[in-house]
Amino acid sequence: MPRFTHKYLDIRRLIGELVLAVLLLVLVFLLTARFDVSEWLMEWAMRHEAYELDDILLSVLIVGPVYLLVFAWRRHREMGKLVEEANTDVLTGILNRRRAMELLTREVRRSHRYHRQLSVILFDIDHFKQINDQFGHPAGDRVLQSFANLASARMRDLDLMARTGGEEFMVIATETGGEGAVELAERLRSAVETTSFGIDQAVTASFGVSQLRPGESSATLMQRADERLYWAKRGGRNRVSGPGATAAKP
Ligand code: GH3
Ligand code: MG
Ligand code: MG
Repeated sequence: MPRFTHKYLDIRRLIGELVLAVLLLVLVFLLTARFDVSEWLMEWAMRHEAYELDDILLSVLIVGPVYLLVFAWRRHREMGKLVEEANTDVLTGILNRRRAMELLTREVRRSHRYHRQLSVILFDIDHFKQINDQFGHPAGDRVLQSFANLASARMRDLDLMARTGGEEFMVIATETGGEGAVELAERLRSAVETTSFGIDQAVTASFGVSQLRPGESSATLMQRADERLYWAKRGGRNRVSGPGATAAKP
């Protein structure tokens, strides 16, 4: 589900590097021509007849580009791994807050430009401190992992889910209005409530949903979702608070 594209993997950078390599090649060519390096090599080859100059040049011509290709491929892979690690929450394996904010800013810009709908859902596990206190921190960690698995399995491919804090999560619901996002939140809420998390206690979560308004920034969109999450908590937890009326617990 997470999309790990990043500016350091940009094809334009690769093209820039290739242009630099070509310029370097021209420079080296001019210098070798200026200082008669080939002449010098020729003399050396004549003095050591066992080594044919052509063979040496051929070896360089083959090994050089092959080595460069392997090097570039490995660097690209390492860079991809690093970027992926920097974007991922270690405990749950979903996107972390830093990446979620980056993606949200991008999605907000895209939605404004193309007049598309966008919603965010902020949710937070209820009384999680109690779960830790009663069952221990490692059990709490396992609840967080199962919780993240459960929720991300219920998203569409286009939705982005992140862990934005200790027991707080966020969904960026692309191409989705407030109503659709409230429906998704309600589905998640009910799935959490009815799932056993391996502890002798029901786990529930509260949800705040907001839909992007014309010209609005990602910060304001988040703030409204956060306020609604607060109201869901105030209203008794295990509920969804969204645009318009607050969806009550069934
Ligand atoms: P509320 O219903 O109001 O959200 O109550 P709460 O107890 O869930 O909220 P509170 O913010 O008081 O407590 C959150 C707890 O989450 C406290 C902290 O120890 C725990 N926590 C944060 N990160 C982790 C983590 O990575 N693992 C575990 N096991 N616990 C964590
Ligand atoms: Mg909580
Ligand atoms: Mg919290």
